[in-house]
Amino acid sequence: MVIETQAAGPFMQNGFIVACDESREAVIIDPGDGVRDLLAFAERNSLAIRHILLTHAHVDHVTGVGAAKRALNVPIYLHRDDLFLYDRAVESGAMFGLHVETPPPIDVFYSPGQVIAFGSCEARPHHTPGHCPGGVCLQIGTRGQPGKDLFVGDTLFAGSIGRTDLPGGDYHTLISSIRDVLFAFGDDAVVHPGHGPATTIGRERKSNPFLVATLG
Ligand SMILES: [Zn+2]
Ligand SMILES: [Zn+2]
Repeated sequence: MVIETQAAGPFMQNGFIVACDESREAVIIDPGDGVRDLLAFAERNSLAIRHILLTHAHVDHVTGVGAAKRALNVPIYLHRDDLFLYDRAVESGAMFGLHVETPPPIDVFYSPGQVIAFGSCEARPHHTPGHCPGGVCLQIGTRGQPGKDLFVGDTLFAGSIGRTDLPGGDYHTLISSIRDVLFAFGDDAVVHPGHGPATTIGRERKSNPFLVATLG
């Protein structure tokens, strides 16, 4: 599996391409301001992107969805509980002084137990509300095996956790999502946050100052 990360824009938001080695089929995750570079990476490496997957709908994570849809014409996925944020992308952008284009309609809402296949790889969405109501962790790996790469959006960061003061955010819900959903993937699972560097579940369980105090 190949993972390309592109941090871009005023919020240094991470967009990703995850590609399956043999088949060169791929997904694009959270196409934001780095969408052009991500699409160029896919082009250079002859990748066929099959799905546009969103971890959540805060504006910095969706500014490139329109460009991705036009270039790829593949389905866009989101959790239904974040639709109100997605529908508000243009005005949210304006609040930060950013011009954001109206994003195209969502094609598929995530559902429990869903498997999103690309080549011999698969992505499984896990609902992790708290930072926002429709946040998900995308667990990616080889088909039929428990994936060990987690694309967590803004739920968990290296050494920090997502903010909960935005509309629909809730601190206790966020902590439960991290403890009950993310920590269950095991210490060796690799965490790819929506901002900043990658980490592991083990490292955050042991040393994240927002979690060691809370979780013991
Ligand atoms: Zn966010
Ligand atoms: Zn973010």
